[in-house]
Amino acid sequence: MGFERRSLPEQISGLWQLAFDLRWTWQPAVREVFRRLDYPLWRLTSHNPVRMLHLMTDQRLMQAARDPAIVALYDAAISGLSRAVSAKGSWWPATYPGLPNRPIAYFSAEFALHQSLPIYAGGLGVLAGDHCKEGSDLGIPLVGIGFMYPQGYFHQSITSEGQQEEQYEHLQWDHAPVEPAVTKEGKPCNLSVVLRDRVVHFTVWCVRLGRVKIYLLDTSVQENAPADRELSARLYGGDRESRLQQEILLGVGGVRVLRALGYQPMVWHLNEGHTAFVALERIRELLDLGESFDAALERVRRSTIFTTHTPVAAGHDAFPVDLVESCLAGCWGAVESHRDEFMGIGCYDNGAGPLFNMTALAIRSTSATNAVSQLHGRVTFDMWAKIWPNVPARECPLKTVTNGVHVPTWIAPDMARLFERHLGIDWEEHHDAVEFWERISTVPDEDLWTVREALRSYLIAFIRERARELWTHKQVTAARVVAAGTLLDPAALTIGFARRFTEYKRPELIFYDPDRLARILTAFRRPVQIVFAGKAHPADHQGKHHLKNIFGRAVDPVFGGRIAFVEDYDLHVAHFLVQGCDVWLNTPRKPYEASGTSGMKASINGALHLSTGDGWWAEGYTGSNGWLIDGGVAGDDPAAVDPADAEALYRLLEEEVVPTFYDRNANRIPVRWLQKVREAIRTTMPRFSARRMVKQYAEWMYAPGFSVEPRH
Ligand SMILES: *Cc1c(COP(=O)(O)O)cnc(C)c1O
Repeated sequence: MGFERRSLPEQISGLWQLAFDLRWTWQPAVREVFRRLDYPLWRLTSHNPVRMLHLMTDQRLMQAARDPAIVALYDAAISGLSRAVSAKGSWWPATYPGLPNRPIAYFSAEFALHQSLPIYAGGLGVLAGDHCKEGSDLGIPLVGIGFMYPQGYFHQSITSEGQQEEQYEHLQWDHAPVEPAVTKEGKPCNLSVVLRDRVVHFTVWCVRLGRVKIYLLDTSVQENAPADRELSARLYGGDRESRLQQEILLGVGGVRVLRALGYQPMVWHLNEGHTAFVALERIRELLDLGESFDAALERVRRSTIFTTHTPVAAGHDAFPVDLVESCLAGCWGAVESHRDEFMGIGCYDNGAGPLFNMTALAIRSTSATNAVSQLHGRVTFDMWAKIWPNVPARECPLKTVTNGVHVPTWIAPDMARLFERHLGIDWEEHHDAVEFWERISTVPDEDLWTVREALRSYLIAFIRERARELWTHKQVTAARVVAAGTLLDPAALTIGFARRFTEYKRPELIFYDPDRLARILTAFRRPVQIVFAGKAHPADHQGKHHLKNIFGRAVDPVFGGRIAFVEDYDLHVAHFLVQGCDVWLNTPRKPYEASGTSGMKASINGALHLSTGDGWWAEGYTGSNGWLIDGGVAGDDPAAVDPADAEALYRLLEEEVVPTFYDRNANRIPVRWLQKVREAIRTTMPRFSARRMVKQYAEWMYAPGFSVEPRH
């Protein structure tokens, strides 16, 4: 693996440092440095500065070093970065002066940080990534722990029959913004965990996000047998047992990483049940220090919190008890003589017999559990009530911290510039202040519409460019070029539907009555188009079936080329879609969507949410900031709920959405539409930002943790 970094001209010698700190991904001023450095390469590498620095010619580097404008931008970027890393003047130290300078460990099986680091599958990863980015902005000393996954999650392509094909690409190490982690003794961080009866070695990579670092475990090392090298190769790749082994590695190995690197976290935050084996290793540590099992468990509980994301009982990871015991055989250490007690913490019967349930382990080994939306909080309480048998509802340690999105990551640059012009250059600092957004009423219609139209045109250009690539480089059929979005119209009302393809999200609901939909899409002078994107999990056959059907609709001439499917949904595609669509469609079956976050990303950009009242929308919808699809039929029976919801959706499209969009004044501006756009921004920006979310975690769960656990 080549990690040699070429030497750079002195004037810009810190470019490597800027490139390896993913804070650049949400700092327009740092992005500008790389754009100016070599714009064609910036485009060619899909915005990957590490790769750019490898590929740039010496001549271009020398030129840049002599360009005073670039050097000035560079100097500002370097000092901005060191300010961010020091966290001086930021929210956390200002709000909690005098707290010991000890970190909060944040464990997650996936992190979505940038498309150049394919270590995420979807919403859970985006949430973790946004949490850490916001933590960095607020100056919170978070340390993330996750997996490197050199083959990541799959890339998707669709055959001309509409079949999803999955390709796992090997990460090109020297193009990835990761560096080998170094222990407190200055050595490479090579550690191991015993799984069953064999030693599994792993190495550790570091990703920087300004104030925050994330450490990623990777078992693809020489010392391991081939099967163990594969253990962390892919995200959600293997069978049940490899999944369990991954989770042991993450929990137990993750604690060892922190120790080897010299961290003494004050609070431990478990993001979803995959991470819950943290408890085992921490109890073991405390037993080694001479504590009793009960005291150790209590100590671990008081310093650990848990975020649950899964509103379906069957969705929580659970394993046969004997499988867990045999996989853990080499991990017990001093916990060996308390095995039954430990196994008891995880044992839970949610209807399928007693299993070792990762969520039960997490709930019972933490002092607070939180759900990710108000509605999900109620569902979680009902689902897990019997785990708190004698606790009255109001004393139950279950809280709700509704998800939010990292605004600097998701806001379109054009929209940010509009806010700068009309709300003030420092709008970003106030973005979680509810009153601040009253000022959005001062943004003139003309300016707002110009931005909305520009964002849609960027999206359509992006989609067509991808279609052109398919045509040029893969010689796909003409039908596939149409399905990829060639016939999209840059001026037409554009609806986006992009998310994992799975049954409960009902991707096909809008096709319930295809003739009625065709009339809506192809109406004379009021055309509507729909852009779909999303992967189906490799094992989700029903999800793949939905995808195939949607693809079939995209090539069906009945819809006039007004339906497109964009392949290989990832962060890059998501940025264009959530910013460029006019309407963001979301049709989950209630209450299966714990929160959902793509609609928040859309709403802060003024793309209007059209959704069933599930997840965050149950608390986010105000009556005037988008639309609520409500067929009025409750319950679980698709045969009753689906037709009612479809009818409600069509009515909204026919009577509200389309007429409002095409109701134009003399200057061709949709005044009523823009009123809703302002409402969407005003109501979602402060309340559904990661800033509000992370501050809530900090106030409710992090800061209290600092006063209960004495220094080690
Ligand atoms: C935001 C995002 C998601 C999550 O979307 P949901 O609304 O939760 O379905 C998934 N994938 C990507 C790439 C995203 O950016």
